[in-house]
Amino acid sequence: FNELQGWSKPLQEYRNPELEQVANTLGNWTVKPAGTEGYRTAEVTLGGVDTRQLSSKTMAVLNRPNLYFIGEVVDVTGHLGGHNFQWAWASGVAAGNSA
Ligand SMILES: Cc1cc2nc3c(=O)[nH]c(=O)nc-3n(C[C@H](O)[C@H](O)[C@H](O)COP(=O)(O)OP(=O)(O)OC[C@H]3O[C@@H](n4cnc5c(N)ncnc54)[C@H](O)[C@@H]3O)c2cc1C
Repeated sequence: FNELQGWSKPLQEYRNPELEQVANTLGNWTVKPAGTEGYRTAEVTLGGVDTRQLSSKTMAVLNRPNLYFIGEVVDVTGHLGGHNFQWAWASGVAAGNSA
C-alpha cells in the first residue's frame, strides 16, 4: 500500500500538508469485500422470525402467547465474539421464565 501511494520517505521527512494528505487517504480508504466463503465457514444465519411479531420481554409471538422463538431463529445477529451466544442464552431465559 505504501509503495502504491508513493509513501516511501522516513516519517520525519513528511511535512504537515503531506501528512494531512496521508491521513485523508487512509481515512477515506474503503474496503469492498469480493465475496464470502459461503456456508462452509458461516457462523450465524439471521434466522427469519421477524422481531416485530414477538414480545421483547417474553419472546412470545404477540397473538399466540404460548408460542416462543429464541436465539438464532429470530432476526437478530451480532458481530462475532459472543453476542450470538449471549442473545441465544438471554432470549432463552426470558422465554423460559415466561413459560
Ligand atoms: C462454527 C460456528 C462458530 C460460532 N462461533 C460463535 C462465537 O464465537 N460466538 C458467538 O456468539 N456465536 C458463535 N456462533 C453462533 C452461535 O453458535 C449460535 O448463534 C447459537 O448457538 C444459536 O443458538 P440457538 O440455541 O438459537 O440455536 P442452535 O444452537 O443451533 O440450537 C438449535 C438446536 O435445535 C436442534 N434441532 C434442529 N431441528 C430440530 C428438530 N426438528 N427437532 C429437535 N431439535 C432440533 C439442533 O440440533 C440444535 O441442537 C458460531 C456458530 C458456528 C456454526
